[in-house]
This record gives sequence, structure tokens and C-alpha cells, in this order.
Amino acid sequence: MDGVLCSKGFQHFFSAILKAETLSEFIRLLGENIHTISGEVCLGRLEFRSENISLEELGTDSQHCIVFSEEEYAHDECLEKEFETHDNGIVHILLYPVKDHSWSDDEKDSLEFMLQTLFVLCAKTRAFNEVHDLLVTDQLTGVLNRQGLARYCENNLLTGIMGGYTAVFINIRNFKFINQNIGTRSGDKVLKRYAQKLIELAGEDGTVARMGGDNFLAFVRDEEAQDFIRGTAMISVTLGEFVKFDLTSKAGVYKIGMIDTMSDILNAVYMAYAVAKQSLNDRVVYFTSEIFKQSTTENEIIAVFPEALRDEEFRVYFQPKVRMDTGRLCGCEALVRWYRSGGIVPPNDFVPVLERSGAICDLDFYMLEATCKCIRYWLDNDICPVRVSVNFSKIHLHNTRLADDIHDVLKRYNIPTRYIEIELTETSCHEDYDAMLAFVKEMRDRGFGVSIDDFGTGYSSLNMLKDIRVDMIKLDKSFVDSIEEHGDNARIVIRNIVNTIVELGMEVIAEGVEKLSQVNFLEEIGCEIAQGYRFGKPMESGRFTNELISNMG
Ligand code: C2E
Ligand code: MG
Ligand code: MG
Repeated sequence: MDGVLCSKGFQHFFSAILKAETLSEFIRLLGENIHTISGEVCLGRLEFRSENISLEELGTDSQHCIVFSEEEYAHDECLEKEFETHDNGIVHILLYPVKDHSWSDDEKDSLEFMLQTLFVLCAKTRAFNEVHDLLVTDQLTGVLNRQGLARYCENNLLTGIMGGYTAVFINIRNFKFINQNIGTRSGDKVLKRYAQKLIELAGEDGTVARMGGDNFLAFVRDEEAQDFIRGTAMISVTLGEFVKFDLTSKAGVYKIGMIDTMSDILNAVYMAYAVAKQSLNDRVVYFTSEIFKQSTTENEIIAVFPEALRDEEFRVYFQPKVRMDTGRLCGCEALVRWYRSGGIVPPNDFVPVLERSGAICDLDFYMLEATCKCIRYWLDNDICPVRVSVNFSKIHLHNTRLADDIHDVLKRYNIPTRYIEIELTETSCHEDYDAMLAFVKEMRDRGFGVSIDDFGTGYSSLNMLKDIRVDMIKLDKSFVDSIEEHGDNARIVIRNIVNTIVELGMEVIAEGVEKLSQVNFLEEIGCEIAQGYRFGKPMESGRFTNELISNMG
């Protein structure tokens, strides 16, 4: 056997075995290539036995496999070598010489050395592959994770093959509530099964990745995209025998272009999904150039906002609230105006964007502070202020210190709480609703006013009246407009809403009043206060200060 390690046969054998990436491949390759050296080393039989290693992993259907065997071998001359795998498995390799041969001690040493070298190299490759799998696989669902997706794109995008694919970003609707109801462990099981169903729907050529939480991204062949999207409209997942969840989703879809990068694809599906998410009716939105334009504008707003806030591009305007019978000023609303590039950007163009990004919280506090500065100026100059209402987005309700934070601003300017009213819009979300009730009570206990803005535009307006006590309800402009547009029916509805609010001991104000006929009707039904162009448009603080002065006389 001298010089066997340098022989051609062994070199071939060695390089073949080194290709093994798993233990089962190691065994298979050993079986396929052992004949190249068996003659040189007088090998009669090669067997594997294993402990603590799953059969599946070993790639055989038993814990014992014969890799190579001559018809006859020297069965009483066994050379046994034991190896421990990194995950506590044990592999025994049993070698027998050919019949009537017995290995010398030197031969045994060479064989052992050879086996050892091979085994260690194989174990390293195997461990490396496991780490690699761990890095690219989502541990909960078994589909690709973000990193896995990046690798997948790296490998496939350059080939141009992705040009025949459609990317679909999917978010499960209300998954948060499933988690809350059944606990996160069961929630995890639901996610796992959901991912399995996505894999089935994506088909053999498809790929699924989990993008964190309940978000998934799938690449499916263009011709299968429609079926995939239809299939994801509702996916039923069962837990045990009796529990079944019908999971619906929102999706953003993008047909991948030949030269797209991974970030092109992700941006496109996210943009399309963002539109689907906001939409009341559309479950699935396909990426278009309009979506791109809109989303680019939104991103620009979000990007320049911090700088614009620092540079004081936002200014506070005040719109009068007026008692219709006397025409006297009885309050005002602080409304933001953005001075940018020589023009004024209307709030409806940026407030919703900032609400989505969360930056509205900074803006609302900025506006509160600007308002407090004005009130301080009026008080210092013996100008009698009116109560100023400041809009606070409902996303503030997640801030458990909101009441304190607002109060702190007033304390800094030494403004009594009665001069500030917080305007909130209705909320349809349960969690927010409870937070809102608590916040309203807390603020009123501290002496602040609270009002409900745009009343009648939400889903739960009337229901809310049962629970909530505020100072003022602001009837949305659409109600006021409907007085003319929808005639008697609208009038009946508005009259009864006003009655209800007044009977409940709250004040009611009509927004967006422009016409005398509206004024007449509102007065007739007992709505005494109005805010609208008929009584004054939103104006700069200087002009509003003059209004306050003339109101004092
Ligand atoms: P909103 O709080 O309901 O404010 C009333 C809006 O109606 C204002 O529009 C006001 O100018 C407009 N308006 C008042 N009277 C009339 C009228 O007679 N006719 C017509 N056509 N419109 C009238 P604006 O100032 O453009 O604000 C739009 C919305 O932007 C506000 O609706 C509010 O939701 C939001 N907003 C404005 N400032 C802020 C702010 O500082 N923070 C937050 N979170 N939202 C704000
Ligand atoms: Mg308002
Ligand atoms: Mg309003």
C-alpha cells in the first residue's frame, strides 16, 4: 500500500469526496468512488453505522449502510473508526480487508489517517452549510429570509431570468389580532402554515421569502401570477381540529423588468402595497408610474420635513369660530401653512403624508408651541385671547405621556389650560378608541378643552357619542354642504344629530359654513357656532390679533 496517498487513484478519490456538502453526500460519493482505491488498499468491505443522526440526514433508510462490499472479505479483520459529529451524532466506519488479507499496523495507520482527513473535511463543509442555511432561511417558516432573498436575487437577476417573473408583496390583514387572541406561539404556527401555503401557490418555479412579521414576498412566473394573486385573496389555515383562520391580505404587485436590481423590485412592490394598504376597496395594487410619482413626492416631503421644521417654514394661521347670532368671535382653530419655494403648500398635501411617516407628531407640537407663543403675546399685551383649538393627529394616542407632554408646553409659556382645546378626529380602531377615551378624560380633568373634528365622516360617529364627553363636536363640512345638496333627508339627519349633541350637554359647531342659507338652517336647529369662510378664512397671526382687538370693543 506504500505511496497510495500519492497515487492517481487516490487523488481522483480525494477530489471526488471533497465535493460532499452533507453527510449523506459524503456517504454517496464514498460509495461511488471507493472502487478507484479499493484495489490499492486491499479493501474488501466498507460499512457505516450511526447513532443520533436522523436517517433522513444520513440519506439512507437505516442506521446502517454498506457502502462497498466484495463478495468475500475478511470479516474477522475489522478496522473500526468512530467519529463524533458537531451535533452529537456518532458515525462508525467499519473497514474490512479483502479475503485472506490482514492489514499491517502501518497500513492501518494510513487508512485511519485517510479516513480522518476525509471525515474532518466533510464535517467542516457540513457545518459551513448549516450556518449558511441558518443565515438565509427564516427560522420560523423555513422560507427565505431577507438575506436569503438578497442571495437569490444576486444569483438570478444578472441572468435576466427574473424578467419573466412577477414580484408580489403580501401583508396579512389583522394578524396582530390573531396574535393577541391566540397568543404568539400559536400565531407562529399560523404563520408557518401560511408560508407553506404560499410556497404551494407559488409553484415549482416560484420563490417565497418572509420579510419580517406577517410580510411575505413571492416571485412567481408571469403566467402564474394571476392564479397566485387570486389564491392569496383568502388563505385558510387550521390549527388542531377545530380552529380555522381565513386569512385575507393586501398585496403590492410588480412585473419585474429585465434590468431591475433588487432594490428596484422592493421599492416598486412596497410603493404598490402602500397604496393598497390605504385603499378601502383595493386588496391588490399593481405598480404604475403614477404610483411612482406620488410615492416620490411623499418621500421628498418626508425627507425635507425635518429641515423645513428647523427653518421655521411652517406657520400658524388662525380661523375664527363665531357665534352666529351675535357675529362675535368665540374661539379659533390653529391651522398649519407650509411656506415653501415662494408658495404655500396646503395641509391636505402633506398632513396625511406626515401622518403615515409619524412625523406629524413633531409638527403638531410645533403648532401647539407656535400657538402658545401667540397666546403669550396676547396676554402680555392685554389682548383678551379666545380659546384656540389645535389639531392633534390620532397617532399621538400611542404616546402614554401625551397629556403631560402637551401640558409641559403650556407650562413653559405659562398659559392657562382653558385657552387650549385639542381637536381629535374619530377613530375606528379599538385600541386607539380606549386610549382616546382615557386621554379625553385626562385633558378635561386638567382644564383643557377637547373637541371631535370632522364628526360624521368616520364609521362610528353615533356610537362614539354614547361613551365620550368632550366640550365640542365639530360637524364636518360635508354635512353642512348636504343641507342644500340632499334636501329634506339631510336636514332631518342634521337636526337630530345636533339635538342629540346638545341634549348630551356638549357644544356643536358647524365647519365650512359659506352661505347664508346654511347659517339660517343651522340657527333654526340650535347649532349656534360656526367656522367657515362666511365668517373668516384662516389668517396670519398678525391679522388675527387685529380681529381679537376689535372683538374686545
Ligand atoms: P380641519 O381640521 O377640519 O380644518 C378645517 C379645514 O377646513 C381647514 O382647511 C379650513 O381652511 C377649511 N375650511 C374652513 N372653512 C371653510 C369653508 O368655509 N370652505 C372651505 N372650502 N373650507 C373651509 P386646511 O387649513 O386646508 O386644513 C385641512 C386639514 O388639514 C384640517 O382639517 C386638518 O385635518 C389638517 N390640519 C391642518 N393643520 C393641522 C395641524 O396643525 N395638525 C394636524 N394634525 N392636522 C392639521
Ligand atoms: Mg381641525
Ligand atoms: Mg374639520
